[in-house]
Amino acid sequence: MTDPILHVSGLVAGYGGLEALHGVDLHVAAGEIVCLIGRNGAGKTTLLKTIAGLLPARAGRIRLQGRDVTAWPVQRRHRAGLASVPEGRRVFASLTVRDNLLVGGYGRPRRALTATLDDVYGRFPRLAERSEQPAGTLSGGEQQMLAIGRALMSGPAVILLDEPSLGLAPQAVARVGAVISALRGTRAAVLLVEQNADVAFRLAARGYLLERGRIRASATSAALRRDPRVRSAYLGTESGLGKTTL
Ligand code: ATP
Repeated sequence: MTDPILHVSGLVAGYGGLEALHGVDLHVAAGEIVCLIGRNGAGKTTLLKTIAGLLPARAGRIRLQGRDVTAWPVQRRHRAGLASVPEGRRVFASLTVRDNLLVGGYGRPRRALTATLDDVYGRFPRLAERSEQPAGTLSGGEQQMLAIGRALMSGPAVILLDEPSLGLAPQAVARVGAVISALRGTRAAVLLVEQNADVAFRLAARGYLLERGRIRASATSAALRRDPRVRSAYLGTESGLGKTTL
């Protein structure tokens, strides 16, 4: 395996008296899309928040491009190459598409910013067409593209994607899926959190199953699909795992 860009080991985190992650290990290499699946409340968002620095690690290590960032604040991790696309997209509705993208590249030199903006518009022609429109007028799928484009504007080494398919119509899920697949062409490593395992397995070559704050399985997507624990999660939940198809 090539050296991981993101390496998480023994990560423990929680809220007040609740420990939500009990020692999580995972890694993602450059150019890889890796999925993290699990039911509601398994700790997926908590893991992403802790990696991003929004929640402190109580124990364990987070390494980004070989550097220990466990104690770094959010902005420093961001500058070091970590970009997040949070659940619910959270674009700035009254700002134009272009300004939303520029916010994502805030602090970068002008030339890098212009080049990346061109790259993002090349990847997402829809965003280029809607450049001067307020982001709030975009469809859900387009807002998800914008949120991914905004993450790309920082020139990230790692992109954390939280539930990109959530709340989208099937056609929009397919379009956003194509956008995520195309991220393989960037250098970025992608950690994709999905409750929709079907979507996750189509996009990622391998993945992890998180249950009650612990990694229960780590395997290729094909092997995870056959794993009885994953299959039972597919069948035995009302959370939507496996229900939706692309
Ligand atoms: P979902 O798909 O529903 O977002 P998840 O796998 O992302 O689920 P988390 O949101 O990480 O799960 O939640 C893990 C555990 O932490 C759950 O028991 C949840 O109730 C708890 N939790 C999450 N956020 C908070 C919070 N802000 N304060 C207290 N407990 C929280």
